[in-house]
Amino acid sequence: LKITLLAGGVGGAKAAEGLAASQYASVTTIIGNIADDDEFHGLWVSPDIDTLIYSLGDQIDREQGWGRKNETHQVLNELNALGENTWMTLGDLDLATHIYRTSQKAKGVTASEITTTLAKRHGVTLPILLPTNDVVQTRVKTLAGWLSFQEFFVREHCKPDVLDIEYKGAADSVATPEALEQIAKSDIVLIAPSNPIVSIGAILAVPEIQQAIEKSNAYVIAVSPLIGGKTIKGPADKMLESAGKSIDSKGVYQCYEHFLNALVIDDLDQSDAAWLEGQGADVLVTPTLMKTVEEKSNLLSKVVHFALTQR
Ligand code: GDP
Ligand code: CA
Repeated sequence: LKITLLAGGVGGAKAAEGLAASQYASVTTIIGNIADDDEFHGLWVSPDIDTLIYSLGDQIDREQGWGRKNETHQVLNELNALGENTWMTLGDLDLATHIYRTSQKAKGVTASEITTTLAKRHGVTLPILLPTNDVVQTRVKTLAGWLSFQEFFVREHCKPDVLDIEYKGAADSVATPEALEQIAKSDIVLIAPSNPIVSIGAILAVPEIQQAIEKSNAYVIAVSPLIGGKTIKGPADKMLESAGKSIDSKGVYQCYEHFLNALVIDDLDQSDAAWLEGQGADVLVTPTLMKTVEEKSNLLSKVVHFALTQR
């Protein structure tokens, strides 16, 4: 049995932790999102990949869901005193990751290799692959013009209306061979309850990745990031709307309909099941809110079990 998890940041990390704590840990490989990456103070920051690594390595600040636990901010305070823009909160321990990533990158080490070293440093045993080693960046069009994803998400707190989204660099990007190979040999492709447009959408924007999923014989199952038609956190609702999709299970399904076999929806969204089944999708209705590690591993075990019995 081989499982591939497509994962963004916080929702992705919850699913990854659920699989890591389940009987499927040894057969799971993650493909993460690099399109939220941005440069701050000359340093290359890869928030979704770091959220995965810190979560799986139990170094994450559990309260906020990102960044390191027991963090201090001396460097950022000093940068602020020097007149730098410090709206992106980067702690002292976290900055070591960004300094390391940047210096390795300058030496010509690929983003994939850097990810592997960082994961090893934090004791992460599940392989984390990247969709591409090229630079792909999500950009968000607002009334004030195009913003980088972090400018929209962190600096503007997701407040502006979203007029359009683009994945800069995606059309010409080349997939990593290891991600393509992993998808091709997978029995299950599991899509985490991540933002379908900017987290999963940005992975799928690498053309060979989406093609590999469409071509593979894997059973493709997604967990909806909506509960009762609402996001837990973050702008998935706004982004679905800007993509012309409804903010419910249907909208999530439509993001993946070209290759999706099954959608997992929360008990609160049970009324969407009939429509989904009418589209030919298998549907698992179950509580999907994950707070504790038990909730994470219970849900992910249930999802894999469902996939194994349906495929
Ligand atoms: P980001 O990159 O940090 O924004 O994180 P992701 O894209 O991976 O995940 C964001 C999505 O995760 C949001 O749309 C949330 O609604 C969803 N999410 C967060 N926690 C949970 C959970 O416990 N259950 C479900 N079903 N969705 C969740
Ligand atoms: Ca993200």
